[in-house]
Amino acid sequence: MATTHELYDRYILNTAKRSLSIARGEGTRVWDDIGRPYLDFATGIAVSCLGHGHPDLAETYASQAKKLIHCSNLYYNEVAGPVAEKLVRRIGAGKIFFANSGAEANEGLIKLARLHGRQNRQGAFEVITATGSFHGRTMATLTATGQEKIRSGFDPLLPGAVYVPFNDLAAVRAAIGPKTAAVLVEGIQGESGIHPATPEYLRGLRELTQEHNLLLLLDEVQGGFFRTGKFGSYERILEGTDGGETWRPDALSMAKSLGGGFPIGAFWVNDRYAPLFAVGSHNTTYGGSPLGTAVIGTILHVIERDHLLDNVRKRGDELIGGLQILREKYPAVVAAVRGHGAIVGLELTSEPGVSGPHFAGAGLLLAPAGNRTLRYLPPYTATQADVDEALALTEKALQTLQQAKA
Ligand SMILES: *Cc1c(COP(=O)(O)O)cnc(C)c1O
Repeated sequence: MATTHELYDRYILNTAKRSLSIARGEGTRVWDDIGRPYLDFATGIAVSCLGHGHPDLAETYASQAKKLIHCSNLYYNEVAGPVAEKLVRRIGAGKIFFANSGAEANEGLIKLARLHGRQNRQGAFEVITATGSFHGRTMATLTATGQEKIRSGFDPLLPGAVYVPFNDLAAVRAAIGPKTAAVLVEGIQGESGIHPATPEYLRGLRELTQEHNLLLLLDEVQGGFFRTGKFGSYERILEGTDGGETWRPDALSMAKSLGGGFPIGAFWVNDRYAPLFAVGSHNTTYGGSPLGTAVIGTILHVIERDHLLDNVRKRGDELIGGLQILREKYPAVVAAVRGHGAIVGLELTSEPGVSGPHFAGAGLLLAPAGNRTLRYLPPYTATQADVDEALALTEKALQTLQQAKA
C-alpha cells in the first residue's frame, strides 16, 4: 500500500513544502501518523484558535449540520445576521460580507477600492501596498502582495499595484497620485516575519488617506480577530495612544482564526462606503452559510465566555518575556523577538529551513515566516503550562542549533 507521502507525490499538486503527517489533535496537541505528540503553536498557520477538537465547536458542527449546512445567497438564513451584528459591534458601524478565505476577503477590499476610485475619484484604481506584505494567492491579491517570490511567473499582473516600504509614511505620501484609490496594509505583517505597524504609521495613514479621499484598507487576516489580545491588531498597536480608541480603517478583512479551521473569511466596510457595493456587484456561493457562520458565532461565544482575550494577553506576555530571556541567553542563534499576544516571531540568525526541523524534533510545531523567523501562533486556549513547555522546548532546540553552529 502506498504511504501518505507517496500518494501526495503522485496525486496532489506539488505546491507546498510539507513536513510531518498529522493524524489527530486534541486541545493544544497534535499527533503524527506514528503517534508522536507535538505541542501545536503553529495551529495550521494562525487558524485553530480554540485548539483541536474543541467540544463547543464539535457540537456546533454536529447540530448545525443536521439542521442546515448550506442554502446559498438566494435566501436568508437565521444564523448569519446575528453573527454579523456581533462583528459590527466589535469593529464599528458598518456591514459585513462573508467570503470563504483570506484571499477572497481581500479581493473584496480590492474591488471596493476599484468602486471607490470609479465613483469618487475620477476612475482612480491604484492600490498602494507595502513591501513584505502578503495578501493572498488569487490574481488580485498576489498582485497586491509586496513580495516578488509570490508574484513571479504570473505576469501580466493586474494593473494598479504600487509597492512602498512598510512603516514608511513618507513613502506612502510620495506614492499618492491622481490614480490612487486606496492604501492596503496589514496591521501586523505575518508571512514576512511578524512586523507590527507602528502607531505613528497607522495614525499617519489615516490622516493621509482622509486628506486625499483614499480608502484605508486593513488586512487583518492573520493578526486580527483577537490574536493580539484585542479584537483588531490596530487596537492593540494603538492602545493607550492619543485617539487610539476611535481609530478605524475604512474596511478590513478577516479569515484564519475567524473560522477556527472552517474555511471562511469576511470583510467589514464602514457605513460610508458600504453602499458602493450594490445588489449583484459581488457575491459568492458559499459565503455566509449557516454552518460557517454558526462556527464563527460559537468561537465568539467561547472567547467571551472563557475570557480568552485576557488569556491571550497573559500567555502572550509570558511567551514574549520568556523568548526575550532566551534571546539574551543564546545571542549566537536568536536575533530578535517581535509581536503581541498569540502572534510572536522568533527571528533566528540562520535560515529556519535548517532550524525548523530542530523545533519539530524537540516536539514543538511552529510556522516559518520570512527568511529566518519562526512564528508562535498558539491557540487562544493555551495554558501557562503550555507556554512554559513551549519555552522549554524552544530552549532545547536553540541548544541543538548552537551546538550545530559551534
Ligand atoms: C493567510 C493570509 C492571507 C490569505 O488567506 P487565505 O485564507 O490563505 O487565502 C491574506 N492575508 C494575510 C495577512 C494572511 O496572513
